[in-house]
Amino acid sequence: MYNVAQVIDEKCVAKKGCRLCIMYCPEANCLDLNSSKMVAEVTIDRCKGCELCVVVCNAAKHEAIEMQAVSATGQLMTHKSESAALGQAYQG
Ligand code: SF4
Ligand code: SF4
Repeated sequence: MYNVAQVIDEKCVAKKGCRLCIMYCPEANCLDLNSSKMVAEVTIDRCKGCELCVVVCNAAKHEAIEMQAVSATGQLMTHKSESAALGQAYQG
C-alpha cells in the first residue's frame, strides 16, 4: 500500500486559473488539467506520493488535494469503497 494525491474537485479553483500543483509536480504527465471538468487531475499510476502538490495547494489556502492510500493493485482505498468491498465479500 502507498499514498497518492487526489484532487477534491469541489475545492479546486483551476477554473479561476490556478495551476500551482500542475507547475510544481515533479513527475511528467502526472498532474494535469482536466479541461472538460476544469479541475486538476492526478494520474494515479504516475504519482510518487511526494506531497509537493498538497503543500503548494495548501499554501495558497485552497486545500483541494489530499493523500489517499492505494492498494498494491492500484485501487484507491477510500473508506467508503473499502467497506463496500468488504460487505460484498462477506455477502458472498
Ligand atoms: S493547486 Fe489546488 S486549487 Fe490549484 S489547480 Fe491544483 S488542486 Fe486546484
Ligand atoms: S504527490 Fe507528488 S508526484 Fe503525486 S501528484 Fe502530487 S506532486 Fe505529483
